[in-house]
Amino acid sequence: MTAPLRHDPDCIFCKIIGGQIPSRKVFENEEVFAFHDIHPAAPVHFMVVPKAHIPSLAQATPEDAGLLGRIMLLAPKLALEQGCKPYPDGGFRVVVNTGAEGGQEVHHLHVHVMGGPRPWARG
Ligand code: 5GP
Ligand code: ZN
Repeated sequence: MTAPLRHDPDCIFCKIIGGQIPSRKVFENEEVFAFHDIHPAAPVHFMVVPKAHIPSLAQATPEDAGLLGRIMLLAPKLALEQGCKPYPDGGFRVVVNTGAEGGQEVHHLHVHVMGGPRPWARG
């Protein structure tokens, strides 16, 4: 039997993954959930999050290496599906805010994927 995924009942992203808080879903499989940012900073702005509650990149362990790699490989695929133009003229930005000084507001590891025609609201 596989171990249950880590879960924090007070975490807003765990609630989104569990469907208790609605979101605009981009993608889902057994280990990740992707959804549009409620306050987009770019024409395309979604986040890819592990379903397991990992508070930030600072708590990721060697066991998470495969998961993190698969999230990185998912980003370009989903970015194209969401309307980003292909590399090199298009492309996208990947951001993982980590900790207070890293600008992290939600403490469930998430990978921002932003793209689309500039200018963007932030950056
Ligand atoms: P952070 O600053 O932690 O890297 O990013 C958290 C992001 O989550 C922010 O860009 C914010 O707009 C987004 N966010 C916060 N609450 C919600 C929510 O309830 N639904 C969605 N879709 N995005 C959220
Ligand atoms: Zn969580």
